[in-house]
Amino acid sequence: MSATHATRPALGIDAATGLARGVRQVLSPHFDARPAGTTPELLVVHGISLPPGQFGGPWIDQLFAGTLPVSAHPFFQELAGARLSAHALIRRDGQIVQYVPFGARAWHAGRSAYRGRNDCNDFSIGIELEGAEGTAYSDAQYAALVALTVALLEAYPTLSAQHIAGHGDIAPGRKSDPWGSFDWQRYRALLGARA
Ligand SMILES: [Zn+2]
Repeated sequence: MSATHATRPALGIDAATGLARGVRQVLSPHFDARPAGTTPELLVVHGISLPPGQFGGPWIDQLFAGTLPVSAHPFFQELAGARLSAHALIRRDGQIVQYVPFGARAWHAGRSAYRGRNDCNDFSIGIELEGAEGTAYSDAQYAALVALTVALLEAYPTLSAQHIAGHGDIAPGRKSDPWGSFDWQRYRALLGARA
């Protein structure tokens, strides 16, 4: 364990508000309530960069806030009018940004199914990693993702380390993130060591 990791403050999630303490919050208007009686049961890992392959910049925050200036880059035209969100993003340096309270329904999965159950947004929490196909995620991102996963497992007992999937797993043929660049074995090993 590095000194950086050891001194990282424990990440706590207030299950009453669904907000994580000590993370940057850019609350998105793109969310609604989960169906009555539905709790988070699945964690979905995504990869995103805007424009694709470029890191940094305000664009992901703006996409989820509904304020992305579509004229700023040709790729952004495709996202004109999109009403999307995720619960949180982990930037390349490991910084966590929260957009939607974890108890609410974020709009990240689209048409999807997990083990025969459709519409994963209803019962999942979506975490974006800033990344790109063919580019390895950073050590800081794995550390932050593990810390966030541990905090979520603690706050929401209906979640389980057994029910974590990639976007590509729940929307095959339509989505492939977090791509082959995400090292599931490494994530699971780090998670196992913490859990
Ligand atoms: Zn995705």
